[in-house]
Amino acid sequence: MGLLDLDKIIIKRTVLSIRCTVCGGNLVVSDRKCHFARIARIVSLGKVKPECYECETCKKRYTLF
Ligand SMILES: [Zn+2]
Repeated sequence: MGLLDLDKIIIKRTVLSIRCTVCGGNLVVSDRKCHFARIARIVSLGKVKPECYECETCKKRYTLF
């Protein structure tokens, strides 16, 4: 139903200014929360809100502060 459309929207949310350092592919916002981002948020008492990105091509994960 609406699920497929939601997936397309997430995939299209490309971060234009950021490229994968390994393969040069597009980084997209990851819907799965990575552990490092969660820990950083807890340690900083919520002041830091890191976002998780994932390379579209090689699936390498990045955390941006
Ligand atoms: Zn990559």
